[in-house]
Amino acid sequence: MSEPVLSVRGLKTHFRLRTGTLKAVDGLSFELQAGRVLCIVGESGSGKSVTAQSIMRLIELPGRIVDGDITFRDQDLLALTEHEMEDLRGNRIGMIFQDPMTSLNPVFTIGEQIVETIIAHTGASREQARARAVELMRLVGIPEPEGRLSDYPHQFSGGMRQRVLIAIAIACEPDILIADEPTTALDVTIQAQILRLLSDIQKKLGSAMILITHDLGVVSAMADEVLVMYSGRMVEYGDVKTIFRNPRHPYTLGLLDSIIKLDDSRESELRSISGLPPIPIDPPPGCAFRDRCVKAMDICGEQDPPWIETATGSTAVCHAVEADEAGGGPGAGAAP
Ligand code: SF4
Repeated sequence: MSEPVLSVRGLKTHFRLRTGTLKAVDGLSFELQAGRVLCIVGESGSGKSVTAQSIMRLIELPGRIVDGDITFRDQDLLALTEHEMEDLRGNRIGMIFQDPMTSLNPVFTIGEQIVETIIAHTGASREQARARAVELMRLVGIPEPEGRLSDYPHQFSGGMRQRVLIAIAIACEPDILIADEPTTALDVTIQAQILRLLSDIQKKLGSAMILITHDLGVVSAMADEVLVMYSGRMVEYGDVKTIFRNPRHPYTLGLLDSIIKLDDSRESELRSISGLPPIPIDPPPGCAFRDRCVKAMDICGEQDPPWIETATGSTAVCHAVEADEAGGGPGAGAAP
């Protein structure tokens, strides 16, 4: 496989609170290949957004990246100055946030916000940047872009605002696009349009993409690789077909069991994962999922689970998967 465009190794992002240390991301590792889509999936509070903000170096106090490496091409992102990082953000790495209303400045026109981004990163003249802004707005499907440059964010619908944010994120044709739940604040019909647009643009630019979502339907439609997070840690990682056909980690199995499938009968009940995820403030040793896990064993409360390269092709972090692999196969861990 070629050199990854992004490599994250042992990332730990912690928040020092009065009540203890919140380990929002605690030892995360993954790679992103050029032109591929990695979906990071998990429940609220699993550390998905903090992972994205860590890559962009947007963590604010009391949060801090306390350990790990983030390498973009051959650049160590954690060693860059803030000025160097500003140059990289929006230029080589573009980010699309959850809420298009709060991500745009309400007192500047849409045109000013796109044009300023282009000028800041490319040194283009105002006239060139304006022409590029129109081109980008057309590319993301905003009708009559010339006339809309002087509109303010509140004059756009939620879906159109998200298209503007996508236009800003891709203005410099970044190597990596990070989209953090980009459709959460939108109507269902608009969600599908925005996801299709993101997919088309990602393919057109050949960018790699990290798509953060809690929606497994989105994952199955968009992902090449999937990283499942729980309570700040990776629990399973692999290519999308492997994860959907042969989920090995009990949490991944639970997530997949909780969505409707086309071949489900009307009578079949949707299963849910009982309980709630723990808040990882000074977490005790062992597996964070143990109180909700149907396969939990004594060791799960005593030792952190090991990383296991499974025979089915994924990496799972689980004592039961380790025992299962030692026993010679997917067995109890395989999809029903
Ligand atoms: Fe369940 Fe134990 Fe695996 Fe955690 S390590 S998911 S508790 S079997």
